[in-house]
Amino acid sequence: MEILHVSAECYPVAKAGGLGDVAGALPKYLNNLGHIAKVVMPMYRTKFLYSHKWDVVHKGYTQLGNRGFEFTVIRESTNELGFDLYLIDINGLLDREKVYGYDDDTERFTSFQIAVLDWVSAWQHKPDIIHVHDHHTALIPFMLQYSFRYGVIKTIPTVLTIHNAQYQGWMDWGKSNYIPRWDMWRWGMLDWKNNINPLASGIKCANVVTTVSPSYLQELKYMSNGLEALFEYEKGKCIGILNGIDLDVWDPSSDTYLTDRYSVEEAEAGKAKNKMELCETYQLSFEKPLIVFIGRLVGEKGADVIPGMIGDTFFHMGRRMNYFILGSGFPEVEEALNGLKQIATQDYNVYIGYNETLSHKMYAGADFLLMPSRVEPCGLNQLYALRYGTVPIVRRTGGLKDTVIDYGDQNGYGICFNDATIGDMSHAIWRALELYRDKKKMKSVRQQMMNLDFGWETSVKQYVEVYSRLI
Ligand code: ADP
Repeated sequence: MEILHVSAECYPVAKAGGLGDVAGALPKYLNNLGHIAKVVMPMYRTKFLYSHKWDVVHKGYTQLGNRGFEFTVIRESTNELGFDLYLIDINGLLDREKVYGYDDDTERFTSFQIAVLDWVSAWQHKPDIIHVHDHHTALIPFMLQYSFRYGVIKTIPTVLTIHNAQYQGWMDWGKSNYIPRWDMWRWGMLDWKNNINPLASGIKCANVVTTVSPSYLQELKYMSNGLEALFEYEKGKCIGILNGIDLDVWDPSSDTYLTDRYSVEEAEAGKAKNKMELCETYQLSFEKPLIVFIGRLVGEKGADVIPGMIGDTFFHMGRRMNYFILGSGFPEVEEALNGLKQIATQDYNVYIGYNETLSHKMYAGADFLLMPSRVEPCGLNQLYALRYGTVPIVRRTGGLKDTVIDYGDQNGYGICFNDATIGDMSHAIWRALELYRDKKKMKSVRQQMMNLDFGWETSVKQYVEVYSRLI
């Protein structure tokens, strides 16, 4: 089978979150099973672009509304990632340093999708499946079926994976001329509540819709930023497939970001060395349990509750733990976290920004990873934490519910709580301190977590089943 993945992110080329991790791993694991999976993404100005060799494979000219543009498709020459990687270069639109966050993101991603379909139309043979990810590529199923010029490829089945339904790519109907000339009778397939809603359109038009965990799919039916009724209506074609982790990148015994690597057998000593390095670099105390948070500092992740919770636990439980936070997001949360540095006495630090190396060192050096997410489609952080022997402290939601069992329950290994409130979180921290004091229990939990299998192998087979049903 030949599958073309269309994504806005792909690790290690460009990553802003979990989507990048998945788009960089799933194709590789599909290829390992003997399929041909390729990835096409926008050509941003990234380090990866300048440090690799590229072949030009296609040049084209197309239009976004009244605006004409040239585009070039380039392919990474060495196949270093384990799959063919194609980048689409559109001068002035895609060649930026960041992936998202520009005023013309609608124009950027719509023209990217048009260029992808123009290019695929010119292929000698066609892919068996086009697999699109999130709203940035979710207009493709519509365009494929209802834009007249894609008649030659309109029968290619499409799969849409939803990594995050909070963001939907809403567009004003005034921009409907961006979509290559289409069958106007089908306007309902673009519309949701009087806007063009690319994610809703993808859900309506794709042959199969997947979410990145089974529990998230259930939650979307009652909480999906306005799409609840649509998820209920389309439930027949939706399936939840849990993400895996890429063990070529996320394995403490071979992780090239770490100074001290460790296997399951050496976990105690290995983690201690990594913790020591973190504590020395970031002025934390080695003797106290180290609780970390890694992620976007936004409401979805429950990040706004963290500053208050830290203050609360310091006050009520004493300074018996360290906290270390890595992330960026809402300015008010960043400010509150920075403010806490004033009261730190070798037990608190924060790094505002994105830092891939530091994230790996934190998974390895921490004792606990906190995830108070209000919404968590799958969550990869807790899976990395498990692999690195770091106990996840998670709110019971979405993928967190599917992957973490409380250590008080049968065969449990993590710490779970119900609400993203200071009270619930502080109680979970108190339980973490209790667990940390019980060295024997902590060690056995660590061994158990590190031996869990959350690799891609199981999930990739489920994707293959989905594709097989469509062709
Ligand atoms: P998201 O909703 O942000 O996609 P996921 O849990 O699916 O959340 O994936 C988050 C990924 O992004 C993980 O690989 C995590 O380590 C990484 N990450 C998030 N924030 C940062 C940061 N500030 N620095 C480095 N890596 C980060």
